[in-house]
Amino acid sequence: MNYVNCNKEDLEKEYAALVAEYEEVKGKGLKLNMARGKPGEDQLNLSRPLLDVINSSTDCITAHGADCRNYGELAGIDECKNFFAEIFDVDPSDVMVGGNSSLNMMFDTIAGFMTKPVVEGCKPWYEVKNRKFLCPAPGYDRHFAITEYFDFDLIPVPMTENGPDMDVVEKLVENDDSIKGIWCVPKYSNPLGITFSDETVKRFAALKPAAKDFRIMWDNAYCVHDVTDTPDELLSLMAECRKTGNVDLPIMFTSTSKITFPGSGVAAMAASDNNMKVIKNRYQYQVISYDKMNMLRHARFFGDLNGVKEHMKLHKAVLKPKFEIVLNALESQLKETGTADWTNPNGGYFVSVDVLEGTAKEVVRLCKEAGVVLTGAGATYPYGKDPKDSNIRIAPSFPPNDELKEAMDVFCICAKLAACAKILN
Ligand code: PLP
Repeated sequence: MNYVNCNKEDLEKEYAALVAEYEEVKGKGLKLNMARGKPGEDQLNLSRPLLDVINSSTDCITAHGADCRNYGELAGIDECKNFFAEIFDVDPSDVMVGGNSSLNMMFDTIAGFMTKPVVEGCKPWYEVKNRKFLCPAPGYDRHFAITEYFDFDLIPVPMTENGPDMDVVEKLVENDDSIKGIWCVPKYSNPLGITFSDETVKRFAALKPAAKDFRIMWDNAYCVHDVTDTPDELLSLMAECRKTGNVDLPIMFTSTSKITFPGSGVAAMAASDNNMKVIKNRYQYQVISYDKMNMLRHARFFGDLNGVKEHMKLHKAVLKPKFEIVLNALESQLKETGTADWTNPNGGYFVSVDVLEGTAKEVVRLCKEAGVVLTGAGATYPYGKDPKDSNIRIAPSFPPNDELKEAMDVFCICAKLAACAKILN
């Protein structure tokens, strides 16, 4: 039944039926969670053999003779630098392999530029009183939180199906030197699951920022995370920047959090020689060396990037049915109501649903009362404020399939209930 076109009487009947359905579901005392993009148990088990790579009798010497048990190799072991260099499309000497969290490296990068300029002669960012950061929205709440923590004004930029609206980005960045950067998840973005088009990547590479120290935070967290047989392709930003002479613009990040273990994967970043000089200089004060045993474990487990890609096929086999459960529920239960839209991504960790405008908070509240935890409504927007109160991020990976099905049924009932109530009032 289409809620938008139907008459009031029919909608009132539907509403009454939904209230009864909702009360019944509430009575079940469910405890389900579709809030955060965490791998499920099955996925974590895929990487168990990683734990057997190193034991008490394994040699811990890298191909280049470094002993991973000891201090040294501040930028990480060569074996890891090589495969991250392939992902980032840079020379291995421009890669820094860190601890287990790329988010931590992003935080440190911003924190570093707050106190020491990334470009000689520029002010450190803490001296720029009205500093601003562009936040393509919907986007990743933890990105926005980092720049909010450092007192940047967060400027939302609308997302399109091709990435951030580049007309808006260019106009802002090219005219305001207090704008210091932009957050990007260029492949299978969080939460939309879209991949930036070739044109978007080229326009990023061709930006002419007013601020000499403007930087693109290029978080390629989902670079090898396909969930369908028709994967997206992302153009290499660095290759495009080499063509435009803008190699200092991007700072790139990724990690194996959603390849092996989020709790103990390996994170890495890369940038131009100029940027890496500043960044590595800071790291030498911050740490003597990161966990090279874990780097070695990962390097030996995968061999090279092809090994990673083979491993990701195993993840795909687990995740594909989960995305199908979510999409089938939305299709079969919400489509005909005409009140919701959603993404159908080829990869990543999320399905992004736009429920009827003005009802997202209510849907999340109703779900919570019925025992289904979702990401907070608004979380995907700077300051947690979705101007339309419409976007909800669904993370299908964590719950087992039977629970996911149940959680999606509850979600659909709540989305319908909130939509009915809104239209009737
Ligand atoms: N970047 C994006 C876009 C994410 O969605 C996530 C986790 O959900 C992270 C980074 C976190 O990465 P890490 O575990 O490497 O800190």
